[in-house]
Amino acid sequence: MSTELPFFGHVVNGEEVPSIDGATMPTVDPYTREPWATVALGGQKEADLAVAAAREAFDSGPWPRMGFDKRHQLIHRLADLMEEHADELATADTRDMGKPITQARHDVARSVWNFRFFADHARMSTADTYPMDSGHHAYTRWDPAGVVVAISPWNFPLMMSTWKVAPALAWGNTVVLKPAEDTPTSATILGRLAIEAGLPPGVLNVVHGYGPDSAGAALTSNPDVDRITFTGESGTGRIISAAAAKNLIPVSLELGGKGANIVFDDADLDNAVHWAIEAIFRNAGQVCLAGSRLYVQRGIYDEFLTRYAAAAEKLVVGDPKDPATQFSPALASQEHFTKVRSFLEPEALGGGTVLTGGVGDGWGVRPTIVRDPSPDARIVQEEIFGPVVAASVFDTEEEAVRLANATPYGLNAMVFTENLSRAHRVSANLAAGTVWVNCFFIRDLRAPFGGVGDSGVGREGGNFSREFFTEPKAVVMQIAR
Ligand code: NAD
Repeated sequence: MSTELPFFGHVVNGEEVPSIDGATMPTVDPYTREPWATVALGGQKEADLAVAAAREAFDSGPWPRMGFDKRHQLIHRLADLMEEHADELATADTRDMGKPITQARHDVARSVWNFRFFADHARMSTADTYPMDSGHHAYTRWDPAGVVVAISPWNFPLMMSTWKVAPALAWGNTVVLKPAEDTPTSATILGRLAIEAGLPPGVLNVVHGYGPDSAGAALTSNPDVDRITFTGESGTGRIISAAAAKNLIPVSLELGGKGANIVFDDADLDNAVHWAIEAIFRNAGQVCLAGSRLYVQRGIYDEFLTRYAAAAEKLVVGDPKDPATQFSPALASQEHFTKVRSFLEPEALGGGTVLTGGVGDGWGVRPTIVRDPSPDARIVQEEIFGPVVAASVFDTEEEAVRLANATPYGLNAMVFTENLSRAHRVSANLAAGTVWVNCFFIRDLRAPFGGVGDSGVGREGGNFSREFFTEPKAVVMQIAR
C-alpha cells in the first residue's frame, strides 16, 4: 500500500534523493490515523552527506560570495514560488499534524514573510563604525558563520523551519534542515522550491530522520558545523547543547513554555476572552507560546469563566481540511495524545475541576478549562502542549506576578488591563522573553524572540538573528597619519 503514497525524499546538494539504503518512514494523518505519505528515513550517512554538501557550498560555492543583492533576488524568488505553492505547503502541514487548514495557510503566509523580511533586513543592514580618538576607525563586518544546522519541531512545521532557514540564508550561510519526524513533508517541498528558485546546490539541504541515534544526533555532533539553531522541548535542548559543546559550536535554543495570561478586573472582557481562547485553543494548544495558565482577578473571575467556557464550546470542530474548522478533533500523533490525556488524570489536576472539555474521539482532546488547580499541580507546572488551560483566581498585582513567575519556564506572558501604568509595571516584572499587553501572537520580526529559564538560550529576530548567524568581525583602520 505504501508504494502508492506520495514520496518525499531528502534534498542534498541540489537533488531530491532517497536514503542510501532505501529506508523510509510513513507520515500519518492524525485525523484519519492512516499514513498519507512515505518519507525517506535518514541517519548518520545522510546527515554526513548533507553537511559535506553544505560545507562545500559554503567553502567554495557562490552563495556566500555573491553579495546581498543577488541573494536577495533569489530568496524573494523562493518566496514567490512558496506563494504559488501555498496550497500544497499548507496541505502538507495539515495532513502531517492535523492543524486546521486555515491556520496552516496562515503559517505559509508567515513563512513567506520570514524569507522576505530577512532578505530585506540583511540587504538593508548597516555596520557600526566607531571613530577613535587615536585617529583610527573601527568598523564591524557581518560575515556569514558557515554551515548552519536547523532542527525544527512539529507544531508549526514550515513556519518554524523557515524562521531559522531564512535568516541563515540571507546572511550567506548554507543550511542543513532537519524537520521533525512527524511533520517532514513541507520541508521537502521547500527544498524542491529552493532548487527551482535557483539556489546553488548544497545551499539548502533537507535531511529527514529521528533525533536520538539518528539524523538529529548525527547533525548536532558533526564538527564541520558552525551553528546549531534548535526549537523543541527543553530536555532535547539540553542534549543538543551538550553535543554542541563538545565541538564548541554556538547554539540558539527556543524551548518549551507555560505562558501565563493575567486578566485584571479593569480589562476589556470581550478582548480578553477572545485572546484567551486564541492563546490556548489555536492549533489545539500545541504552541510553545500557549496561554496555558490563566490568572483572573477575583472581581471578574466567575463572569470571565462563564463567558470563556461558552466561547470554548462554540469553536467549530471538524475535518482539519475543511476551511470552516477552527479546532481540530485530533492532536498531532497518538504518542502526543497519550501525553496530553495524562494531564486530565486526577493526580495531574491537583484538585481542579473540569469546567468544560475532556478527552474526545480518536486522538482528540476537546477545548478544556480546568478551574482552581493547586499551584503546584502538574497541570500548572508542566508544559502540556495541548488544549488544556488551568484557570486560577488572584487578588493583587503582586500575587499575579508571583504566580506567573512560579514555573521554570519564561517564554511569554499576557496582561489584560486598561491601566497604563500597571501594564508597564507588570510587563517589567514578568520573567518572560515576550509580554503581550491586551493582545497576543502579534509579532514584529525585528523584535527579540526567545525565552528565559527553561524556555531557551539566546534570541532570534532582526539584529538578534544577524548576531547569531554571522561571525562579526572588527576591522580597525588607521585614518590619520
Ligand atoms: P522535540 O524536542 O521532541 O523535537 C524537536 C526536534 O528535535 C525534532 O526535529 C526531533 O527529531 C529533534 N530531536 C529530538 N531529539 C534529538 C537529539 N537527541 N538530537 C538532535 N535532534 C533531536 O520537540 P517537539 O515535540 O517536536 O516540539 C514540541 C516542543 O517544541 C515543545 O516543548 C514546544 O514548546 C517547543 N517549541 C518551542 C518554540 C519556541 O519558539 N520556543 C516553538 C515551537 C515549539
